Amino acid sequence: ATMPPLLSAIANAGRHGVLVKSAVVMERLGQVDAVALDKTGTLTEGTPYVTDIRPLAATGLTGDALLRLAAAAEHPSEHPLARAVVDAARSRSLDIPPAGDFGSTPGAGVRATVEGRKVAVGSPARLLGAATVDPAAVVAARLEDEGRTAVLVTLDGTPAGVLGLADRPREEAAATVAALAALTGTAPMLVTGDNPRAAARLAAETGITEVRAGLLPQDKVTAVREMAQAGRKVLVVGDGVNDAPALAAAHTGMAMGRAGSDLALQTADAVVVRDELATVPAVVRLSRRARRLVV
Ligand code: ADP
Ligand code: MG
Repeated sequence: ATMPPLLSAIANAGRHGVLVKSAVVMERLGQVDAVALDKTGTLTEGTPYVTDIRPLAATGLTGDALLRLAAAAEHPSEHPLARAVVDAARSRSLDIPPAGDFGSTPGAGVRATVEGRKVAVGSPARLLGAATVDPAAVVAARLEDEGRTAVLVTLDGTPAGVLGLADRPREEAAATVAALAALTGTAPMLVTGDNPRAAARLAAETGITEVRAGLLPQDKVTAVREMAQAGRKVLVVGDGVNDAPALAAAHTGMAMGRAGSDLALQTADAVVVRDELATVPAVVRLSRRARRLVV
């Protein structure tokens, strides 16, 4: 017997390196008419690296001492920024002390007890609050103006320094954004937890004109729901724990497989196993072709 078109399309998607979890998903992919894309790990390569280490003068900490404590707190985290901080400490041959009481807040950061001190590493906006005037906020803002992702390190609740991180856009990001815009007739939207300046820089580099930044995981869901209420069938593409709620709320959710968190891979309807962003529009096209054959 010849294979039904949607099953052939699933096999074809597999050849592109995309795992589509069911025939229903294969069919829904062709219905999408709007796209929301995560930044870190989705439009970017997802392997950020530390570019700046700025202890606050008042703390008397060296850059290495700041990095060492931050790496200890980040060690249990699977977030790409956490891996970058740990890698930076390792490349400087710093010992990474054990951490206790680890906790993380998706879209915000991590906290842990290291050598008897409470260490928090995360979004300056979330840790400081918008109203606070703090020397660390000034350092963070300057790094963000350069398009960096700034993370604040606090010791026992007091700002101790700032780390700057950078992440390259994927080579195929701009072409993929253009392909998705052409396929759906709608400008793809960037939805990110990162700061507005880093988001704007990445958007400019990839041809994105719609940007929502500084979002918590639930804010990404709200953005998707608003598009759905405007009559859109939204494809969400993401990779992080912080993307899982939006992937679940989407008409169709796709996760980037290589750096993707377990939760994102489980929640998504399809997984880009081969880690090529350009396969996203390719699979939408496969679905449309199969649907024409089915009808
Ligand atoms: P994105 O939506 O771009 O994938 P996330 O929602 O994962 O970004 O993170 C948003 C922001 O929260 C980061 O830019 C950072 O400031 C902070 N953050 C989240 N997790 C961590 C972590 N493990 N270490 C430091 N900062 C973090
Ligand atoms: Mg991400």
